[in-house]
Amino acid sequence: MISITDEKVCRRCNTGKPLAEFHRKNASPDGRQDWCKPCQKEAVYSGRDSLPVDGPAGYVYLVQFSTGRTKVGRATHPEHRISQHAYNAECMGLSVARTWISPVVADPASLETAAIRIVADLSTSTVKREWFDGVDFDSAVEQISSLEEK
Ligand SMILES: [Zn+2]
Repeated sequence: MISITDEKVCRRCNTGKPLAEFHRKNASPDGRQDWCKPCQKEAVYSGRDSLPVDGPAGYVYLVQFSTGRTKVGRATHPEHRISQHAYNAECMGLSVARTWISPVVADPASLETAAIRIVADLSTSTVKREWFDGVDFDSAVEQISSLEEK
């Protein structure tokens, strides 16, 4: 049986670490991701300083609607984008329940990809590949925030 004192070997750095060193993943047999937290963070940012940044710096945002459905997006002006989501939601009788915006990042596309992976792992179902149901918003924010800073 799995207990929180168990170790897991990271598939990326091949190091045995306590389960707490791995982010949660509901779909996994042990409930944790294959890569440890430092590896996950490194994968997001590796090459960031050496490769040219394609596109301007920007933000990654999360929007959770009153139905619990959650959207991950990236934008240069996230408040504007979120107000568009809110407007569209209102047209369907919904409202925005929660929002979160990352600090500005040099490579928002990479952070968005990582954020989508995190939210997808936390969700119970996915709608059209970019809308997620059953997401624990606080866990998603916590995990994405842990990727942001070096
Ligand atoms: Zn690792």
